Amino acid sequence: MSYDRVRGMNDILPEDVAWWQLVEHTIRGLSRRYNYREIRVPIVEHTDLFTRGIGEGTEVVTKQMFVFPDQKGRSLALRPEGTASVARAYLSAGLQTTAPFQKWYYLGPMFRYEKPQKGRYRQFHQYGIEALGSLDPSLDVEVIAYAWTLMSELGIGGLSLRLNSIGCPEDREPYHEALRAHFSDSIGSMCADCQRRYEDNPLRILDCKQPQCQPHIEGAPGSAEYLCDDCAEHFAAVTGMLDRLGLSYAIDSRLVRGLDYYTRTVFELISEDLGSQDSLLGGGRYDGLIESVGGPSIPGVGFAGGMERLVLVLQEREKALEPDRIDLFVAGLGDAGRKAGFALVETLRRLGLAVEIDHRGRALRKQLTLANNLNARFLIVLGEDEVTAGTAKLKEMDSGEEHEVSLAPEAIFAALCDAPVSDGRDGCGCEGCGSS
Ligand code: AMP
Repeated sequence: MSYDRVRGMNDILPEDVAWWQLVEHTIRGLSRRYNYREIRVPIVEHTDLFTRGIGEGTEVVTKQMFVFPDQKGRSLALRPEGTASVARAYLSAGLQTTAPFQKWYYLGPMFRYEKPQKGRYRQFHQYGIEALGSLDPSLDVEVIAYAWTLMSELGIGGLSLRLNSIGCPEDREPYHEALRAHFSDSIGSMCADCQRRYEDNPLRILDCKQPQCQPHIEGAPGSAEYLCDDCAEHFAAVTGMLDRLGLSYAIDSRLVRGLDYYTRTVFELISEDLGSQDSLLGGGRYDGLIESVGGPSIPGVGFAGGMERLVLVLQEREKALEPDRIDLFVAGLGDAGRKAGFALVETLRRLGLAVEIDHRGRALRKQLTLANNLNARFLIVLGEDEVTAGTAKLKEMDSGEEHEVSLAPEAIFAALCDAPVSDGRDGCGCEGCGSS
């Protein structure tokens, strides 16, 4: 019997993991520079957290959550996104009283029951940053700047940032009225979801992807015209600082985003390489979220991006990654050579070198092919003679140069770490010598 993968849930095989590690490494480095610390939250939460946090009427909550009862009948859900869990973690730790200002980042799998297609999966991975505890527009700008810097460090171009302000809950009423007035004649010909949204939350209509609704959405009034003085001032401060930093954006006054917790600033980074699922990341301010999940009024701002989409764009643009190199391959000849080789390899690994040996008892020719496939920097062939003499030839694979080394692990370690490196790094780059 064989098992199929669960639809929309993918394996990430080692060939692809290198891309993921590149992205994760860049995110960790950038987060350190921006002073965002990592938080890890559970994959499962009480369903209520998402219903209250993300919003009862959102697609994510009504259609896309994986919900199941636990053994005692309590309703649990696989997290469809990270921000609600982050808000819950903040409250669980009591930070609202002890240390209300926090800057965090996270990486991890999310789950949404969507129709799978390129760039859209049922298990996908998000990276995200969240800054909690300040209303200052500089934080909105910092979060956007982080997103732009991340893309520039990954060498991703062809991007555009859509920006809007959807104001505060008080601005919503007049805006909802304006939207209802706009859609009143056309709502009968729009999709069933939009007809429901028309009554409950007309803002959500702007997020509809149904083709029949698009012509009516195009002429709808934009939210920026309905901002109160405070929200308008906040938005002007955000755009002013973005201009000052030279970060480009295009105001799209009908951008609303799919989750109910957003207030004021919302934004989305779009890639021209992604086809129909073109949103690389999205975020904004969520000043009411902590309150809606049971805490005091504490503002927040952040974004989340899809790892799969980022990796797709990178692969599209770069085609191939430099393959990882191992430091040394030890080929063993005969029983004595193989046994001594295995012991040597173990010691060298403990000293910090990346070393491999053939585990399938194969002939020398096959072992050398493996050394080439692993892109080894150096090769040692160990036979009975070498074991008896306690020395062997160390071959540098790129130049073909050979010289005699002692088989004492420290001597090999020193020979490798002193050797010039052909790929332009300073030092040998092995974990052991720490000069990477
Ligand atoms: P959201 O949490 O809906 O604001 O989405 C933020 C980002 O997560 C999007 O811009 C995508 O890059 C990514 N994303 C959302 N849903 C999916 C999905 N089903 N599959 C892959 N990536 C997704």
